[in-house]
Amino acid sequence: MEYDCRRGWHSPRIVPYGPVTLDPAAIVLHYAQTIFEGLKAYWGVDGKIRLFRPWENLKRLNRGADRMCMPRVDEELVLEAIKKLVLIDQAWIPREKGAALYIRPFMFGDEPTLGVKPSHTYTFMIILSPVSAYYQEGFNPVKIYVTDEFVRAAPGGTGEVKAGGNYAASLKAAEVAKAKGYTQVLWLDAVERRYVEEVGTMNIFFYFEDELTTPALSGSILPGITRDSVLKLAHSWGLPVSERRISIEEVIEGAESGRLKECFGTGTAAVISPVGALAYRGREYVINDGKTGPLARRLFEELTGIQYGERPDPFGWTLILT
Ligand code: PMP
Repeated sequence: MEYDCRRGWHSPRIVPYGPVTLDPAAIVLHYAQTIFEGLKAYWGVDGKIRLFRPWENLKRLNRGADRMCMPRVDEELVLEAIKKLVLIDQAWIPREKGAALYIRPFMFGDEPTLGVKPSHTYTFMIILSPVSAYYQEGFNPVKIYVTDEFVRAAPGGTGEVKAGGNYAASLKAAEVAKAKGYTQVLWLDAVERRYVEEVGTMNIFFYFEDELTTPALSGSILPGITRDSVLKLAHSWGLPVSERRISIEEVIEGAESGRLKECFGTGTAAVISPVGALAYRGREYVINDGKTGPLARRLFEELTGIQYGERPDPFGWTLILT
């Protein structure tokens, strides 16, 4: 659908997948006025199709619209559109556990102008793609690379919304990490380069002897929906859970002393991604002997169990489409 100041959002429609036409001076191409979301439709073991907390994606999308001077969307309307698109051809939804239909809503400013200002016109689209199981060879830990050279997002910036520019800022660091043999980058805060923020496209958790903790939302961290789900689940299990500032020194000291029992990332793509080692300033620190820990495994089983309808959904997180 499209937006202009006179008509607001208008002309919602479903069209075959294909290229879009943009004016070469479209604002998005030059000043990155674009936001997006990512969620999945799961084919349950009971044959039902579920979305996981889609309301949270839509709220986050609209927070992004506010931050990026873009018009809000009608959350009900977008959810209806997502449902329609998912059900258009159920053959596109993979049946294997772990695989899913990825849903990508996004919006961009497309007014042709060379001035740096918010666009007066917008396009909102939703595209879908089947994705295979994230873990093809078992639920194995990754090694991550702590960068103190690059930063993803700074206080006052757009790090807490899903704006395209955040990902532009992260490309170089990810390439450097990959070249050194690491899967993901662990970001530190932009001011002191000392406090842990998040990893690549995931939030991060540390399981210390007496506490499961994750960096508090600082304004430059994306408030992940999986992050929030892990906090709620772990709390419901009676684990001591906290959101606070976590310095890289504390993480390293924990890895060396064994006080850090587990570390894992959380996000829609992997759900839970155990971290077996992290590299910082030329040294590598191993966590939990480089193995997947029991808490990461339990959280993974529980969350995927809810998503695929194998386990009860006490929080009302899933929306059943059929
Ligand atoms: N941080 C970043 C930068 C991300 O791109 C994502 C993926 N959306 C996450 C964290 C995890 O968020 P969620 O759990 O909502 O997928």
